[in-house]
Amino acid sequence: MFDNLSDKLDKALHVLKGHGQITEVNVAETLKEVRRALVDADVNYKIAKEFTSTVKEKALGQDVLSSLKPGQLMVKLVKDELVKLMGGEVAGINLSGDPSIILMSGLQGSGKTTFSGKLANFLKTKKTKKPLLVACDVYRPAAIDQLHVVGDQIGVEVFSDREEKNPVAISEKALAYAKENGHNVVIIDTAGRLAVDEAMMTEISNIHNAIQPQETLFVVDSMTGQDAVNTAKAFNDVLNFDGVILTKLDGDTRGGAAISIKSVVNKPIKFIGTGEKMEAIDVFYPERMADRILG
Ligand code: GDP
Repeated sequence: MFDNLSDKLDKALHVLKGHGQITEVNVAETLKEVRRALVDADVNYKIAKEFTSTVKEKALGQDVLSSLKPGQLMVKLVKDELVKLMGGEVAGINLSGDPSIILMSGLQGSGKTTFSGKLANFLKTKKTKKPLLVACDVYRPAAIDQLHVVGDQIGVEVFSDREEKNPVAISEKALAYAKENGHNVVIIDTAGRLAVDEAMMTEISNIHNAIQPQETLFVVDSMTGQDAVNTAKAFNDVLNFDGVILTKLDGDTRGGAAISIKSVVNKPIKFIGTGEKMEAIDVFYPERMADRILG
C-alpha cells in the first residue's frame, strides 16, 4: 500500500534524518521533495503546497534548526500534518436508529456491494448486530444476485424485490420488513453508474429523502486518485454524506485519495477496504495510516 509515496517521502526526509546540523536551505529542499512526492501520489497541487507551507511554518516556529535532532523533529511535523490532513480522529458510525439505516452510495465498480457485505459482517461479529442487506439496484439483476451471494457467504439476510422497479418503494418495504423481523441495522446497496450523472443523483437523493438514513456513506475506489476526490465532491454536493469508504487500498500504490479526500469534502474516511474477502475491512485510523505512509 502506498509504496511509491513511502519510498519518495523516505528519500526526501532521509537527508535530514540523523543530521546534527541542518540549514534552512536543507529544510526548504526537503519540503520541495515532499511536495513533489505528494503530487506524484496524485494529491491535488494546492493541497500539497499548503501542506508543505504549514510544515515549514511550524518547523521554523519550533526552531527545528537548533533542536537536538532536527531530522526527527521534521519527520514528526510531517507526520502530524498528515494525520491532520486525513481527519485527525477516528470517526465512528452512527448506530442510534431503531433500526439504524445505512445508505451506500457511489459509482458502479467502486466496491459498494462488496463493502455492504463487509460492513454487515463487521457489525454482526464485532457489534453483535442483526443486519439486513437491501438490494436496491433495479437496473442490473446481476447486482441483486451478487448481494444474495454475499449475504449467503456471511450469513446475513438479504431483502430484494425483483418485481418492484422503484428503489424508494423497495427501501420502504425493506424497512418495514426489518422492523417486523427484528433487524436493528439496515444496509441499503444502491445502483451506481459508470460516471456521475443526473439520473443517478436524483435516484439516490430520492431514497435519501424518503428513508432519512442515520449514515450515508460514499464508497470510492482509492486507486482512482484525484478522480475519487472529484467524484466525492459531486456526491457530497447532492447528498451531504456522513463519511467516505475507501476501497481497494490493497492495490493503491499512490495514496492521493486517502490523503486529500477529507480536506476537499470535509467528511471523514470511516472505513477502508483492503481486499476482496469479507474480512478485508478496517476502521480508518489517520494516525496508523500516517505511520504506514512514513514507514
Ligand atoms: P459495486 O459495483 O460498487 O457494487 O462494486 P463491487 O462490490 O461489485 O466491486 C467491484 C469489484 O471490486 C469486484 O470485483 C470486487 O471484488 C472488487 N473489490 C471491492 N472491494 C475491494 C477491495 O477492497 N480490494 C480489492 N482488491 N478488490 C475489491
